[in-house]
Amino acid sequence: EANLPDVERDALAASRNFYDDMPLVNYTTQYGLGCFEGLKALPQKDGSIAIFRPDQNARRFKRSMEGLLMPGFPEEAFVKAVVEVVRRNAALGFRPYYKAEWEKDSFMTADSVYIRPFTYAEGGIGVAPSKAPYVMVITTPVSAYFSSARSEAVTTDRIRATPRGTGWIKAASNYVISTLAKHEANQAGFMECVFLDAREQKYLEEGSSCNIFVRLKSGELVTPELGDTILPGITRASIIELARDRGVKVSERKLSVEEVFDTGAECFVTGTAAGVTPIESLTHRGNKVVFNGGKVGELSAYLRDTLKGIQYGKLPDTKGWMVRV
Ligand code: PMP
Repeated sequence: EANLPDVERDALAASRNFYDDMPLVNYTTQYGLGCFEGLKALPQKDGSIAIFRPDQNARRFKRSMEGLLMPGFPEEAFVKAVVEVVRRNAALGFRPYYKAEWEKDSFMTADSVYIRPFTYAEGGIGVAPSKAPYVMVITTPVSAYFSSARSEAVTTDRIRATPRGTGWIKAASNYVISTLAKHEANQAGFMECVFLDAREQKYLEEGSSCNIFVRLKSGELVTPELGDTILPGITRASIIELARDRGVKVSERKLSVEEVFDTGAECFVTGTAAGVTPIESLTHRGNKVVFNGGKVGELSAYLRDTLKGIQYGKLPDTKGWMVRV
């Protein structure tokens, strides 16, 4: 053990502590009391690695934990932990590599490392808050999230989040319905499902793992307003900023399926995994609206390429979004 490199000795010690303290009742698998984050480390054009807005994931993670009655993990420690995991993996050769290809075909061909911090909470046998959650971080190398050539979306009549529930939290339990609905959409030949509001099944909410934007024929870019049923996406917030910088009128408000069918000109979904993925069409109860003749719209392409440019160090990071590893 004395001869092991530092990283391996640390890992061994950590896993020993973990198994020694393994809780008898695991609140995460028994009661669904767990939350997580997803963020990305991206290879930069100059050979280094940078993480996109980890401070924002740190903030959401803390809020998610507190929303599930756990003590919030300190934000600074979160950022330090994810940077350290990526750095140590990179030192061992497990790192993303910058690929020139993505510049040719900008539709998500770049490699990156997906960082997944999550809680694992222990507690007693009854239903009560967990006071002793573990926080762990795993990383996975990834490339394109949405791989189907045709990016068609379909509304689902399943309800992901109910008012006054946990929809605004990145809670593990929310992903049960997301998984079922997305699977059904995929089985029916669609790339992604779109959830509607629980009360009226009339207004757009979000996808199974992404937020949604629609550009109307008037030029206005609309995304459903945040409430207690929509996850406040970090990509969503970034895209709102980039669109406003370009002089686009952006509204966060209720957006009905009817309005999208009547006046939708472009549509795209956003997320850490999805980046900005343009949506070709939306199907609702057998009716289909095709956006921009099935071609990627001008604003969608601009936002997709601008976000990607910043993330891969191809465009200047004027907002200080990238944290070097
Ligand atoms: N909504 C849901 C339900 C999600 O799982 C995600 C992915 N975290 C998003 C939206 C997008 O959030 P972000 O841009 O922070 O990845």
